[in-house]
Amino acid sequence: MNHSASSAVRDRSRSWADNAVRLIEADARRSADTHLLRYPLPSSWSHDCDLALYLKDESTHITGSLKHRLARSLFLYALCNGWICEGTTVIEASSGSTAVSEAYFASMLGLPFIAVMPASTSATKVALIESQGGRCHFVTESAQVYAEAQRLAEQTGGHYLDQFTNAERATDWRGNNNIAESIFDQMTRETHPVPDWIVVGAGTGGTSATIGRYLRYRRHPTRLCVVDPENSAFYPSYLHDDPGVVTGKSSRIEGIGRPRVEPSFLPGVVDRMVVVPDAASVAAAHHVSRVLGRRVGPSTGTNLWGAFGLLAEMRSQGRSGSVVTLLADGGERYAETYFRAEWLTSHGLDPSEPAEVLVEFERSGCWP
Ligand SMILES: *Cc1c(COP(=O)(O)O)cnc(C)c1O
Repeated sequence: MNHSASSAVRDRSRSWADNAVRLIEADARRSADTHLLRYPLPSSWSHDCDLALYLKDESTHITGSLKHRLARSLFLYALCNGWICEGTTVIEASSGSTAVSEAYFASMLGLPFIAVMPASTSATKVALIESQGGRCHFVTESAQVYAEAQRLAEQTGGHYLDQFTNAERATDWRGNNNIAESIFDQMTRETHPVPDWIVVGAGTGGTSATIGRYLRYRRHPTRLCVVDPENSAFYPSYLHDDPGVVTGKSSRIEGIGRPRVEPSFLPGVVDRMVVVPDAASVAAAHHVSRVLGRRVGPSTGTNLWGAFGLLAEMRSQGRSGSVVTLLADGGERYAETYFRAEWLTSHGLDPSEPAEVLVEFERSGCWP
């Protein structure tokens, strides 16, 4: 190729990328920010302390979960790094919400999208990805998804978005309306505008990394608590300061908990970690769904269980203040799983005991 021909090709690819970035920005501009809901606390508490709990409702994104933010950031990151061009096949290792959101952005840009997922992935998820024009590629073991996504990218000359590595890099942690900036902005007129705690789970670890960095950057005294389900490598790794922990077991709480410590999980910005039993996460998801009058996903149950514990601790110390956590996704996607008794039984999950704890908490304000 002579010099002018190659620069014509470069001009064409720059103008394609310019337009792709514009399309993503235009979509963001047409979209509204997510709500910060107030969650009702036990009424008996109002006599002796002034506490408030808020839920950042990430289920109202166009693609239904907090992964909408991540997918947008990963596409912008790849475009601005020159990794995605016209016709590039985009590949991701994901069995869940990330692939649903990425399929949306791939379709917006007219790019082929392949989600690499375990064969056990629910038909509902597969249908959601395919309805946005994505393709699902199955592997037998969940640990195989990373290598298989990499292999497909090499074979197709495509790009592996790699959420578990790039989540913490692709998000603008200083601001740019990231989730932390949005929370602090929405809190400004509240009685306790600077929360004592923000509680989140970790899947990629990207959300906790963004919030933890933002707290330091803005010099907020707010502390970050990460709640972790059973079988996850994040908690033992945090406890023993060992990034090499591998549990080899899959989490039963969709979206959070990983069998290995993902590169996007940054333990240095986490002030406390709490392990939440899986049955308690499910019980809390059911409980909160009743309180709000609409279903929430299981990781939101994990978040609430952690937040209730912290609020009870603040109350026992006679402190006033606020706690913020996330409603990560709605419960519609889980009607056949976490909201079905037979499915719970077959997965060894019995939420009846923790459900009693929650009823007692609501009634008396007592937390075990
Ligand atoms: C991904 C996910 C999380 C965790 O968020 P990360 O930023 O990946 O750590 C929590 N809940 C749900 C439903 C998710 O899909």
